[in-house]
Amino acid sequence: MTDCGCEKAKAELEEYLHNELRGDDATDIREHLQHCEDCSSEHLIGVTLTEVMQRACKESAPEDLKNLVLAKIRTVQSAH
Ligand SMILES: [Zn+2]
Repeated sequence: MTDCGCEKAKAELEEYLHNELRGDDATDIREHLQHCEDCSSEHLIGVTLTEVMQRACKESAPEDLKNLVLAKIRTVQSAH
């Protein structure tokens, strides 16, 4: 596999999700995500999981939650 920045993007994805990156790094990741389907789908899944986890702190409905996550991931995957 050629180095298209995936390694950096994946390494920093979590910090990016939590808005913990400095401006330049965040810009690099954002640009990479726009051009890389692989990383952008990982990012979408990460965003989804983050949302779901936040929701899970407020409501506790494990079965619904599981279905929601699976549905979201399928949506992400079928978008490709
Ligand atoms: Zn990538």
